[in-house]
Amino acid sequence: MAEDKLLEVINLQKHFDVGRNKTVKAVDGVSFDILRGETFGLVGESGSGKSTTGRTIIRLYDATGGEVKFNGEDVHGKKSKKELLKFNRKMQMIFQDPSSSLNPRMTVLDIIAEGLDVHKLVKNEKERKERVEELLEVVGLNREHATRFPHEFSGGQRQRIGIARALAVEPEFIIADEPISALDVSIQAQVVNLLKRLQKDRGLTYLFIAHDLSMVKYISDRIGVMYLGNLVELADSEELYNNPIHPYTKSLLSAIPLPDPEYERNRKRITYDPTVHDSSEVPEFREVSPRHWVRCTTKEFEQYKKEAAQK
Ligand code: ADP
Ligand code: MG
Repeated sequence: MAEDKLLEVINLQKHFDVGRNKTVKAVDGVSFDILRGETFGLVGESGSGKSTTGRTIIRLYDATGGEVKFNGEDVHGKKSKKELLKFNRKMQMIFQDPSSSLNPRMTVLDIIAEGLDVHKLVKNEKERKERVEELLEVVGLNREHATRFPHEFSGGQRQRIGIARALAVEPEFIIADEPISALDVSIQAQVVNLLKRLQKDRGLTYLFIAHDLSMVKYISDRIGVMYLGNLVELADSEELYNNPIHPYTKSLLSAIPLPDPEYERNRKRITYDPTVHDSSEVPEFREVSPRHWVRCTTKEFEQYKKEAAQK
């Protein structure tokens, strides 16, 4: 079967000018594809450029360089208002902090209906209300919640409202930027399960951003690991967990606690030392074993390949 690419990110760059002659290279040449129907997890510590990657893909920021293709179409090139609107409908974003991404002065009805209004997807007020109430049920809330305001809900419920808002325009692709990081551990799994069910029912494709690897493993088909604006490793989810190659990925994995006292007693935290790489050579993204990519120098590449072959 030919791989059905929904999103192609090609050498994406986003640099911010901060103060005099200073730039932050938040995203510095990132490339990956997302296949239709898959969940691509993007992980990395705070400040590694995950949110900027997501926000640039969806055009909240103009890219400094590189390309983003959606359904084979360049979405960062010059586009008419109409084309942009069409594209905006297909790609939606769910944010980390549901409180600050929901307007406190708007009712849940108006928040969720915003996309319906912008894209003129409903004919009248009755249909508008009906659609919103259906969506509330789809995300596990009640029809009666439509008349309420965001502050009347718990964090988990607010995130469900954010999900309903994204779903309203029937997108193909959703970027979820740490959608559960601000939630109580006890409700994180509920929201993840909701996202998984919606994906199955609606054939959605996800870019799922997280700062640690524990929940991403459970939801993602493939995972990309970011470090300081670059992707350092990319592999199928299981493969990344079982055979991490880049020392930064190993350090991230060593930070995950497991509910096994024996393991916990012996768990060693590995700290990543970026100076271990030969700095005289610019590392490149290379395929060490089938579908398993690592950013490395030529020498590291040979070594990683040898180690992978011995496994
Ligand atoms: P992450 O989501 O992985 O925590 P971000 O994408 O938010 O990382 O940030 C990556 C880097 O870019 C950080 O150094 C951050 O300070 C910087 N950055 C993000 N947004 C801006 C901005 N609007 N202006 C200047 N610097 C920014
Ligand atoms: Mg972020």
